[in-house]
Amino acid sequence: MTRSADVVIIGGGVTGASIAFHLARRGVRDVLVLERKFIGAGGTGRSVGIIRQLYPTPETTRMVRRSLDVYQRFDEAVGGSSGYVGCGALIAVSAAMRPRLEQTLARQRALGIRAQLLEPADAVRIEPRIDVATLGAVLYEPESGYADPSAVTAGYAAAARRLGVTIEQGTEVTGIEQGGGQVEGVRTAGGEVIHAPIVVNAAGLWSPAVARLAGIDLPIVVGRHPVFIVERDPGFGPPHLVYLDLAGGSYVRPETGGLTLTGSLTDDEAQHPMDPELLGSQVGFEEATDVLERTSRALPRLSEARYRQGYAGAFDITPDWMPILDESPLGGFWIAAGMSGHGFKLAPAVGEMMAALISGATPPVSAAPFRFGRFATTATAAGTFVSSYLR
Ligand SMILES: Cc1cc2nc3c(=O)[nH]c(=O)nc-3n(C[C@H](O)[C@H](O)[C@H](O)COP(=O)(O)OP(=O)(O)OC[C@H]3O[C@@H](n4cnc5c(N)ncnc54)[C@H](O)[C@@H]3O)c2cc1C
Repeated sequence: MTRSADVVIIGGGVTGASIAFHLARRGVRDVLVLERKFIGAGGTGRSVGIIRQLYPTPETTRMVRRSLDVYQRFDEAVGGSSGYVGCGALIAVSAAMRPRLEQTLARQRALGIRAQLLEPADAVRIEPRIDVATLGAVLYEPESGYADPSAVTAGYAAAARRLGVTIEQGTEVTGIEQGGGQVEGVRTAGGEVIHAPIVVNAAGLWSPAVARLAGIDLPIVVGRHPVFIVERDPGFGPPHLVYLDLAGGSYVRPETGGLTLTGSLTDDEAQHPMDPELLGSQVGFEEATDVLERTSRALPRLSEARYRQGYAGAFDITPDWMPILDESPLGGFWIAAGMSGHGFKLAPAVGEMMAALISGATPPVSAAPFRFGRFATTATAAGTFVSSYLR
């Protein structure tokens, strides 16, 4: 049996769903999303969903601002709920990082970001439970917070379907058809060939494997990022804000039911490659102890919290911790991957930009910094997770 589509998108995570929605909204008719498991089954379904706005470049600043606007009015813009909670975020830096934070903030303010630089002693007026003793400065982003990655993906998928997109779950792509330097379609695990002049690799943690089907090596490492869930003690008081401690290397974000999600901000993911099939598996005691110690130093009141569970997450990491949003050397085979642990907060803008690029239009934000070939030609090879905040 053979079928055809105008565009096949491989992967039904937040990236693939957002691209499908934006392509359909641009009037691209026959869009087919193929998802090997179910919508949101990959990194998206394990995401902590934090939305912070501190970004080091004009393009990423514009992307996060556009995306936050969508999350704040998701029902109107897409349909359904994004689960956005604008609890505010505090981002702590060391004294050595402070000058970079001041410069970045000045640039970001000019691009519409509302954030305030606080002396550490003043930050406790916003969140009295953080330990500011060793901090150099704290950035306060009142509109930041978190949203629900599974709900957002389901919202994009439903809206895409209403616009005529077909989404097939339980369909794994196992081959990329090509001829004369152009992509010609995909082959599925069921042996079906689906002809398409455009194929988008939005397979997240599996994007390197999908690219290899086309004979393409992506400069992406799948690196381990475990997440831990603790239950705040009954006397903790109102939920804390999102707190990203770049100085001490940990983050916390509140969850309903008195829970807190926490993880590491120490830039070591790329040194711990992980098989993406281990996503969601149990974490080791040592991993948990190490991160929870850092969390307790950042927010000492959390040392009373009860450990509930942890799970293995992973990031698809490029050398500069920024995504690849570009056509690959195989004509018609596009890459939207390498989200490097921050692809949820950017997904609305990524969808808009990819849909424009694929349609031959000018994207709303320049995609020049996200070119496929940049690692071969520029000195962008030495990024860290923290460099996706500040450079
Ligand atoms: C633990 C964790 C915490 C995170 N925290 C944050 C955060 O706080 N804020 C933030 O902005 N971002 C965060 N991220 C990152 C963000 O969630 C991801 O960048 C984003 O969800 C990636 O979405 P995606 O659609 O690109 O990839 P994925 O969600 O991985 O989706 C790819 C999909 O492709 C499918 N697939 C794979 N191979 C095939 C195939 N051969 N055929 C068909 N389908 C296939 C998979 O089943 C999967 O559903 C976090 C990620 C993790 C894992």
